Amino acid sequence: MIDYEELRRLMVETQLIPRGIKDQRVLKAMLKVPRHLFVDEPIQYKAYDDMALPIGDGQTISQPYMVAVMTELLELKGNERVLEVGTGSGYQAAILAELAAEVFSIERMERLALRARERLRKLGYDNVHIITGDGTAGLPEKAPFDRIIITAGTPQVPDPLKEQLADNGILVAPVGARFSQQLIILRKEKGKITEEYHTPCVFVPLVGKYGWKE
Ligand code: SAH
Repeated sequence: MIDYEELRRLMVETQLIPRGIKDQRVLKAMLKVPRHLFVDEPIQYKAYDDMALPIGDGQTISQPYMVAVMTELLELKGNERVLEVGTGSGYQAAILAELAAEVFSIERMERLALRARERLRKLGYDNVHIITGDGTAGLPEKAPFDRIIITAGTPQVPDPLKEQLADNGILVAPVGARFSQQLIILRKEKGKITEEYHTPCVFVPLVGKYGWKE
């Protein structure tokens, strides 16, 4: 029997804290969410390793450190409405659900969306809504969002997402070339947007109207 709780503790103590993750709420959420239940059974034993893992359809669940960094950059206090683009396994959505009031997450691949929805339902996350579609267009009917996170690499932040960000909002996204990006932090204050670059990273491509073409 694998002691997953112990693996989670080791993940936090060897991968997150030494690399500078400080937000106690983020660390607590990473200690709590059962990451192994977001990958297929044969690779569950690897779920807490320092790497991204395949989730089918050519997509991946992000490395734990990348999930922690992006979540910390969102500066969640608990009352926010969050939009995630790129549900994938649903793991990042579960972490967000621990730390914010309501999460909307868009996934373009139907099968991944269905599986993520089912996992989150079983785990009791009733504040997450999974939507199938092209997330580069955002979710205008539910906008504005206090926070937006894009978990796929994009050549630029899609304009509709900038528009759907609330005032005093924060958006985090991997922006750059097809096979290497850098996290960008975009803040909106009094309608004015400022940008700041952060950690280098590698994400699968954001494919859609305002992202990469297939
Ligand atoms: N956050 C995920 C990992 C995301 S991998 C997790 O925690 O597991 C990136 C995901 O973005 C993939 O599942 C991919 O299918 C999805 N994606 C790519 N382009 C998209 C788009 N335009 N809209 C919505 N999802 C998209």
